[in-house]
Amino acid sequence: MSEFPKSQRNEEFINKIISPKNKPPRSEGGLFLGYPHTTPLKIAIKAYSNYLEYNSNHVGTVTRLNQKLTNSRQLEKEVIEMLGDLYGDKNIDGYINSGSSEGNILATWIGKNYLCKQANSKVAVLTSELSHHSIDKAININSIEKFVKISVDDNFKIRIQKLELEILKLLSSDIKNCIIVLTSGYTCTGTSDSIEEVGKLIDKLKREYDFNVYIHIDAAIGGFVYPFISGFYKYFMNEHVKSVTVDPHKMGYAPMSTGVFLCRKNLQTYIETPINYVEGKNDDTLIGSRNGASAVATWAVINYLGIKGFRDKINYLMKLKEDLIALLEDNKNINIISKSEINMVCFSFCGLKYGRLPKYIEKKYTLDQFTLKCNNKVTYCYKIYIMPHVTQEVLKELAYDLSSI
Ligand SMILES: *Cc1c(COP(=O)(O)O)cnc(C)c1O
Repeated sequence: MSEFPKSQRNEEFINKIISPKNKPPRSEGGLFLGYPHTTPLKIAIKAYSNYLEYNSNHVGTVTRLNQKLTNSRQLEKEVIEMLGDLYGDKNIDGYINSGSSEGNILATWIGKNYLCKQANSKVAVLTSELSHHSIDKAININSIEKFVKISVDDNFKIRIQKLELEILKLLSSDIKNCIIVLTSGYTCTGTSDSIEEVGKLIDKLKREYDFNVYIHIDAAIGGFVYPFISGFYKYFMNEHVKSVTVDPHKMGYAPMSTGVFLCRKNLQTYIETPINYVEGKNDDTLIGSRNGASAVATWAVINYLGIKGFRDKINYLMKLKEDLIALLEDNKNINIISKSEINMVCFSFCGLKYGRLPKYIEKKYTLDQFTLKCNNKVTYCYKIYIMPHVTQEVLKELAYDLSSI
């Protein structure tokens, strides 16, 4: 148990303690495979460290301020605009925060307040059974009274017919306000809900019934992948989509902890809170103080890569994924669950009790088992994220280790 030091400690001692001893597991050739995290791009580390000593505090929403912005705040504004452009609405609001857990909680908060202004009715949240647990947190924090989890189809996308059925049930119980949370890049399967299909369903139902919808897109992982692979449906092209969250600290190769929340112009007015120490000012964000360095790092990555750079990177990772799938398919014990559209593979291992891999393999590659509960079927799975630090040698080593069990 550590005690708060009574007096200063020797600087040499501190220096020794604060120097990392091992090679970062998320650097080139590292064995870290279970999560969509990697070493930030060099340019992002540089951008972040250049601004650390300024310790700038980005409070408020830069796209909603009519004032001259300091350097890092101007860059935050440009990040919001550039992502708005990428997702189909240039005239967007938003800000950089800690990540998509926060983005999902904020979206639910805004959605609830927005819908309650549209109609005096309870608010229901509908999402798929594969959604991230931060949605469960959002339900709890925002005291949402009706929460419906919907099954997914064989391609791990929300079942449209089931969604329709559940909305009709809500309407018949006189609930007229629906937040629908869709995911672009499920953590466990990498798959993406069809925003286009859900949009069509809402249009159809709205012609027959009087109700209000707020669609939020959890693009924590997919927001920096799907736009760079073919057939991407721009999130904001659909008028019912009101907000999007994306994580630069995952597929955006930026330092922890960096998320971006985007929403339609002025939706944040629905959550404004007066600030008692600044006359006449409201706070239109969820957390208070935010670091400016994340904004600069994200700006650096986006400009360093551009669409072409992101595309080249994802194409390379997809190539590695194909190689991995070929290796895994040689192993009769391995069942690939989701080939998804992105740089990850979800698989189960047959022939072992509960499909559980030996501990040393889980530990070596940071693989955590999870249960995929879909369509009344339970499968014990692992996921592998092929991030920029992953090499072909590491994937071969993994395939070899799995074949020796
Ligand atoms: C990681 C993730 C989140 C949570 O994001 P944090 O950045 O960890 O807060 C939300 N949704 C999905 C789909 C994720 O993969």
